[in-house]
Amino acid sequence: MKTITETPREIPVVAETDVLVVGGGPGGLAAALAAAREGADTMLIERYGCFGGTITQVGVGSMSWYRSAGTVDVEGIGIEFETRAKEMGATYALPGRARAGSVLLDTEMFKVVADTLVKEAGIRPLLHAKVVDTVMEGDTIKGVILESKSGRQAVLAKRVIDATGDADIAAYAGAPFEKLPKNELMGVTVLFSCIGVDREAFYAYLKANPSTYKDWGETWEVETSGKEDHLPTHFIAEPFARARKEGIIPADMPIVGSFGPVSDTGGSITLNMNYMYGFDSTDTFDLTRAEIEGREQSMYAIKALKAFVPGFENAALKNFGMTLGTRDSRKIIGRGHLTASDVREEGRCEDSIGIFPEFIDGHGVLILPTTGRYFQVPFGVIVPQKVENLLAAGRIIAGDKIAHAATRSMMCCALTGQAAGVAAAVSLEDNVDTSAVDVSRVQAVLKKQGVRLD
Ligand SMILES: Cc1cc2nc3c(=O)[nH]c(=O)nc-3n(C[C@H](O)[C@H](O)[C@H](O)COP(=O)(O)OP(=O)(O)OC[C@H]3O[C@@H](n4cnc5c(N)ncnc54)[C@H](O)[C@@H]3O)c2cc1C
Repeated sequence: MKTITETPREIPVVAETDVLVVGGGPGGLAAALAAAREGADTMLIERYGCFGGTITQVGVGSMSWYRSAGTVDVEGIGIEFETRAKEMGATYALPGRARAGSVLLDTEMFKVVADTLVKEAGIRPLLHAKVVDTVMEGDTIKGVILESKSGRQAVLAKRVIDATGDADIAAYAGAPFEKLPKNELMGVTVLFSCIGVDREAFYAYLKANPSTYKDWGETWEVETSGKEDHLPTHFIAEPFARARKEGIIPADMPIVGSFGPVSDTGGSITLNMNYMYGFDSTDTFDLTRAEIEGREQSMYAIKALKAFVPGFENAALKNFGMTLGTRDSRKIIGRGHLTASDVREEGRCEDSIGIFPEFIDGHGVLILPTTGRYFQVPFGVIVPQKVENLLAAGRIIAGDKIAHAATRSMMCCALTGQAAGVAAAVSLEDNVDTSAVDVSRVQAVLKKQGVRLD
């Protein structure tokens, strides 16, 4: 490939902080809150204009859809996201087919919930700033370089947490990472929402046409443990099959979809109806193709909804997510590594930073936590190799593909974020590098912050 050399230049250091978190999704938000609540001067940098990551930018509000009466759930900041959202009127009850005890976050209002949490904790926010490189001293990270409307600037930090979803910071810093081949990555999605939906008619249709997770198997190859098969699902396939048959949508367009609730005013959010394979979200050309393809598929989905789903006859597009949704890209190679066996067989470890229910959704596996089984998440999976004073949070933590299908869940992202924030703060208090932090001290602070470890 042809290259050019950029001219070196002096850039201003616009801030210095103890803990710098890059990325304001469930992982980064939890990391910043945990570090700030432990007394660390904490800054949170985000490339877009709001915090919340996939919740607010993509429009995914289903943070707790896995939950049922039998779930032994995570405890900590992830649950706080949900309870604060409820208190602030930023949740919806899910329609009939949803899992017991779960709610859907209002993905617009969650922007305000996140702002409130950031403000209350005294975190220094910086929006509209994309981190484009790291400042290194040997193998120790010392800060980041960002690009924004203010130009190219640096922020220096004693500890950095990578919560970018794509392990951007680990990659810039030279920490080893892995990424599946493009054709094995989980699919990407453009979510959308509609207005003009007749809630009563739509909910009556759902009631009259129940579907279960067994129906997923007719569309995808999905392995379950058997107990999932009879459970109700928030998923529709039949209207799209019919639309394909009748030529309303192209015969080879694999639209199916899960739907969210409908508001009092006829708004239907979190319409998740395309799942596109073969895109690498660390490649801008792929991102471009996927955004355009996703919007095209969404418009066909609306045509099918209007034609065949009662309640949607007069519906219209309200908006697309601010950005394409990515489920899977770079993951750090960590000091520890979670495996399929850990998440399927109730893995236990000495260095637990939290528990997560046996919930696996992706790479052809669907296991729902209906029986009280759970696994422990080890500290080592948030510690990258080679680079000092950098920690990972959210969906970039170390593990194999089936482990990722569990830990990518937003609640688990908040779990690893909270642990990264606490570990950063404790390492500063104890004046040791992050790789040398005393895990029992991290565990004690996590417990104090309300995290269940065993
Ligand atoms: C379509 C879709 C549906 C899903 N459904 C569910 C579901 O129902 N339930 C569930 O629990 N999970 C679901 N997931 C998975 C879950 O949403 C993600 O795994 C989770 O949000 C990841 O959290 P995160 O904090 O690691 O990253 P993200 O939520 O991706 O947040 C990363 C943040 O970092 C910012 N950022 C990235 N790069 C930079 C940079 N260089 N500089 C500055 N900022 C940067 C981004 O703008 C973003 O705000 C879904 C995902 C998708 C895409």
